[in-house]
Amino acid sequence: MQRLLSGALKFGNHVFRGKRYLFESLEKGQKPSALFITCADSRICPTLITQTDPGDLFVIRNAGNIVPPASAAGGEAATIEYAINALGIRDIIVCGHSHCGAMAGALDHPDGIEGLPFLTGWLRNVAAARGIVLAEYANASREQQLDVLAEANVLLQIEHLSTHPVVARALANDELDIHGWMYRFETGAISSFDLNTGKFRPIADLLQELPEDGGPLPGLAADIRRSPIIRAMQKL
Ligand SMILES: [Zn+2]
Repeated sequence: MQRLLSGALKFGNHVFRGKRYLFESLEKGQKPSALFITCADSRICPTLITQTDPGDLFVIRNAGNIVPPASAAGGEAATIEYAINALGIRDIIVCGHSHCGAMAGALDHPDGIEGLPFLTGWLRNVAAARGIVLAEYANASREQQLDVLAEANVLLQIEHLSTHPVVARALANDELDIHGWMYRFETGAISSFDLNTGKFRPIADLLQELPEDGGPLPGLAADIRRSPIIRAMQKL
């Protein structure tokens, strides 16, 4: 705790002063450009990996970057609703990551994790992704299965996201793009799901393929409604 207190003091005395104008301008309100949904894992810093400032990202974090479907709505649903309808956010990123403990729990303990009843219930939201991975990668190593599960889980949670009325409406009105990212923290590599290839591809490659006049990054909006996990990750 000593380290956190010292850090808070250093923030007030040095970091805040260096960005005083930015922080003061935020008093008027927030206008974040994206909703970033990622895991609670301490090894992920959304503003660091996107090089953004306070006020730029609206964030939902939980174990496993999970978005329960609308039928099981809770805090995530309320936050998504606020992001789209009150803040006018038009991009949602669901970001999974390497070596995810939640994915390991879902992969290795399908019948529940002893002593963790709430986590057991929560990870049922990953069961469909686990089923696909075990069917398609039955003979793969456990490490490879874990990697693929993290990717399949991102797509499954995007599918859940599209069941929320506020998201479905925004997609239908072409007012929202949804992006699936994977962050490999041990290398710093970030990849984004590409509908054309059905793979997660380095974001540098995707950026290079953008038209010269800029325009929005291609998202999953157009196809998400007919996706049983984007046709089982388009690997079939
Ligand atoms: Zn995680």
